[in-house]
Amino acid sequence: MKALKHFFQSFFLTELVKGLNVTRRHMMSDNVTVQYPEEKTPQSHRFRGLHALRRYENGEERCIACKLCEAVCPALAITIEAGPRADDGSRRTNRYEIDLFKCIFCGFCVESCPVDSIVETRVFEYHFENRGENIMTKDKLLAIGDKYEDQLAKDLQLDDPYR
Ligand code: SF4
Ligand code: SF4
Repeated sequence: MKALKHFFQSFFLTELVKGLNVTRRHMMSDNVTVQYPEEKTPQSHRFRGLHALRRYENGEERCIACKLCEAVCPALAITIEAGPRADDGSRRTNRYEIDLFKCIFCGFCVESCPVDSIVETRVFEYHFENRGENIMTKDKLLAIGDKYEDQLAKDLQLDDPYR
């Protein structure tokens, strides 16, 4: 019986007709392909992109060198060296680096930071051309924070219940 069924299916090309019907259905439906990079999909305010360090409105860096982010990072991607600042003796980082080759963009560093200093931006279009560019230094992270501060502040506001 099974062989007979198989014979008729092969003779009348039913599998081929079924397949062509799927093609016809999708030809009539809306196109779901996004024409990246001209078109982009919507992003969540919790998008985990390139890292940044933020400052307060008066320009003071937020980071207090507590090293919680370094301790919580599962990929050991963060390296911090800290000490008292020369001019006012406040504890600050002398070195703050994130190795983006190690980072898995889990966001634990962001969650652990008590002063909303280390954050992740919505930036995902970046590349490296030279050896060592994967190391995000404190200066680079602060510069990214300065550039995207408006968006970062808005995104953090949307997370208000947790902050
Ligand atoms: S996102 Fe995760 S892996 Fe990347 S630096 Fe932060 S804690 Fe480490
Ligand atoms: S970025 Fe935040 S968690 Fe990390 S050392 Fe600075 S204050 Fe602490």
